[in-house]
Amino acid sequence: MTGWDRLLHLIAAPVTVRANGGVGQLWPVTSNPASTTGDGPEIVLRAGVTLADLEFAPFRPTVLNVPGVRPLLISEAARGEGAWLVNGHGKRFMTAVDPRAGLAPKNIVSGAIQKQMVGPDGSGVFLDLCHLDGPFIRSRFPTIDAHLSAIGLDLARDLNPVAPAAHYFMGGVVAAIDGRTSMLGLLAVGEVSCTGIHGANRLASNSLLEGLVFGIKATDLIT
Ligand SMILES: Cc1cc2nc3c(=O)[nH]c(=O)nc-3n(C[C@H](O)[C@H](O)[C@H](O)COP(=O)(O)OP(=O)(O)OC[C@H]3O[C@@H](n4cnc5c(N)ncnc54)[C@H](O)[C@@H]3O)c2cc1C
Repeated sequence: MTGWDRLLHLIAAPVTVRANGGVGQLWPVTSNPASTTGDGPEIVLRAGVTLADLEFAPFRPTVLNVPGVRPLLISEAARGEGAWLVNGHGKRFMTAVDPRAGLAPKNIVSGAIQKQMVGPDGSGVFLDLCHLDGPFIRSRFPTIDAHLSAIGLDLARDLNPVAPAAHYFMGGVVAAIDGRTSMLGLLAVGEVSCTGIHGANRLASNSLLEGLVFGIKATDLIT
């Protein structure tokens, strides 16, 4: 018996389902769990299965960016309540980018933040809610407020460091809505799949459809 024989076990199956999630960990800042390392698409690519739309990776603009602290989504609703995006000099930069300022579409806001961060005098980007009513902000965003308090930040009174974060993967293993891929016997469901029905951008509850509805349809092929 060789070393590999002890490590690898061949399991013959008439149907194999890939359901191992997104690829967020390919980027330095992501809202995704540690398991999203991209091995789902990568393994089947090596087997010659068709992938598509790999560039369709929507970012969320404002994820907490504190070294050593788990990235936390600071909801778009904070900008909806009037939060400003400011650079390291305290300057609001979105007003020069788009008339909608921080309420511009997420890809525009994410791109503008990224430019501030890597520009010649890039020194970080912050979400500034200091001009808003503190008690209201804390009651409006209690979970975010509690998370920030635990690391010594005050959502309503501090400049909260943020960065765009990889959030969702619209591309992946090309699959029909019942999970069938270009390889007979291989199904892909959930975020690893690319059914194409949502286009390039993530919308609310994409994953409900991709994971739950299409997942159930895939089981019809198995049973
Ligand atoms: C912060 C955040 C908020 C979100 N909010 C929403 C929302 O409001 N509405 C919505 O619809 N979606 C939302 N999503 C997206 C949604 O959570 C995901 O798209 C969905 O959970 C993906 O489900 P999945 O089953 O495809 O993959 P996952 O839930 O990622 O499950 C994949 C599983 O595969 C395992 N795995 C990975 N690699 C391997 C391997 N090589 N071998 C064996 N196992 C492996 C992992 O450990 C994991 O258990 C959000 C995501 C995040 C991160």
